[in-house]
Amino acid sequence: MSDDQEPSATSDTLSKPLFRDITADDYDPEITEIESLCMNCEEQGITKLFLTKIPFFREVIVSSFACDECGYKNAELQPGGRIQDRGVSYKLTVKQINDINRQVVQTQYATIKIPHLEFEIPPGKSVLTTIEGIIDRAVEGLEQDQVLRRIQHPEVAEQIDNFVSKLKELKEVKAPWQMIIEDPSGNSFVENPYPFSSYCQFLMQEL
Ligand SMILES: [Zn+2]
Repeated sequence: MSDDQEPSATSDTLSKPLFRDITADDYDPEITEIESLCMNCEEQGITKLFLTKIPFFREVIVSSFACDECGYKNAELQPGGRIQDRGVSYKLTVKQINDINRQVVQTQYATIKIPHLEFEIPPGKSVLTTIEGIIDRAVEGLEQDQVLRRIQHPEVAEQIDNFVSKLKELKEVKAPWQMIIEDPSGNSFVENPYPFSSYCQFLMQEL
């Protein structure tokens, strides 16, 4: 790799998987590895801390965890960076199956709404994720106490099951649907794979 090669949003950058293995070719190879316990199976996994450049956004520090034992992975953003002068609100229309793979920087201030299902995800952790990842995490959260709930409150459990199937259906993109990401800190971001094309149904407005 030549030295003058600037990191940019080439197809190469965009096609890199979210949980990529960092190689010597990476533009910023500085990386710290820490052995840590897996939250899922309590075996030893590896946490990697590294700086990564989000195309058309900025650099963020990611703490990614991977467990070889059970396959559990996550990618959290390290807190840091200043609160921006203005908040952001992204309104993304998911029109095709590829849209669910868009990378999302979701800070701990971001509220996510899916108006189609009247669903709102309150602020939580800062994570580097995808549209699909956001849905998967919401499903996980809803399913968390279902075993007990099916015994104690079977009607509620059934309603949640129905809702979970609707959420999962969104990933099939049978019809267009919208996701709104509102972040008063201004630091959330949704990848736009067609930054120079009007084709993209992508709106950004100041709050
Ligand atoms: Zn594990």
